[in-house]
Amino acid sequence: MPLSSMKRRASRQIILGGIPIGGEAPVVVQSMTNTPTKDVVATVNQIKRLTYAGCEIVRVAVPDMESATALKEIKAQISLPIIADIHFDYRLAVAAIENGAEGLRLNPGNIGGRRKVKEVVSAARYRTVPIRIGVNAGSLSRSILKTYGHPTPEAMVESAIGLIGMLEDFDFRLIKVSLKSSNVSHTVEAYRILGEKLDYPFHLGVTEAGSLISGTVKNTLGIGMLLAEGIGDTVRVSLTCDPVEEVRVAYEILRALGLRQRGVEIISCPTCGRCQIDLFSLAEEVQHALSSITTPIKVALMGCAVNGPGEAREADIGIAGGQGYGTLFKKGKVVRKVAEHDLARVLIDEVRRMVN
Ligand code: SF4
Repeated sequence: MPLSSMKRRASRQIILGGIPIGGEAPVVVQSMTNTPTKDVVATVNQIKRLTYAGCEIVRVAVPDMESATALKEIKAQISLPIIADIHFDYRLAVAAIENGAEGLRLNPGNIGGRRKVKEVVSAARYRTVPIRIGVNAGSLSRSILKTYGHPTPEAMVESAIGLIGMLEDFDFRLIKVSLKSSNVSHTVEAYRILGEKLDYPFHLGVTEAGSLISGTVKNTLGIGMLLAEGIGDTVRVSLTCDPVEEVRVAYEILRALGLRQRGVEIISCPTCGRCQIDLFSLAEEVQHALSSITTPIKVALMGCAVNGPGEAREADIGIAGGQGYGTLFKKGKVVRKVAEHDLARVLIDEVRRMVN
């Protein structure tokens, strides 16, 4: 059975800045800026780059009132819904909502008690702003750690249920939940357990996952396993690098699982001693030149005639390398031979024509 037709966990749907999350809605791709939010120019520029890459909801840190106020100016210049990430000070959450944040990410346990939680809930309810409760294995309460000894999946789940209860006490149910740990198996297990207990939509991520390669592996395993089981409504791939890479990796995960298709999918062989063209340079040039395309299209770049024609035929367009040339395939049929020095240009032109 294809993964895309797998039964998804039945989560209730919420709307964040016009974007449906949960229920039957497609899995939504998120990222987070790493610029100081009060630096409006830098933050807007980064959000525009994220938008271009396909990011659908962006989170920004709001550590002070200047950042909360800056949201208004930022919102006026971008098209994505913003989630304000708040810790410790409920006034920042209220100010962020007043300045246009469409979502909050906060931990109701660390903003100073019931009265302050009530203030935030009132502001969120008034503007229909969902709140994501973000449980992080690194910041569980002392009492939960005392009970469980370590930040186990069960400890994360108990923490989440307690924090959700703090919002439900005020009859607030516009809730999304995340349970993040840098330990992949703990993350997966925690979501599985909580998924059996309630129906709020889940935001998936493996936190503090590391740099591009190690972080991609951890996130792909954690997020991928859960999505393959039908669990998860939004995703953020956490990487210690340019957040645009987070969006690219997120789409690769969703594409590999058959859940979302966006842009050019390059099918390329790893090359071997039979390779007859400079495939590394060709793949890099083609990928880079076509990175702005959003229409789904499959491009095969293969080094020789062993597996080349087979893969190239199955793709929308492809080449199989020969001695100093490549055989061009389109929609399963051989079109012509193209000289090696012309392969990148011809492929790029052809793909652009096909998607326009
Ligand atoms: Fe090697 Fe050809 Fe296979 Fe590429 S397609 S890995 S060059 S045999």
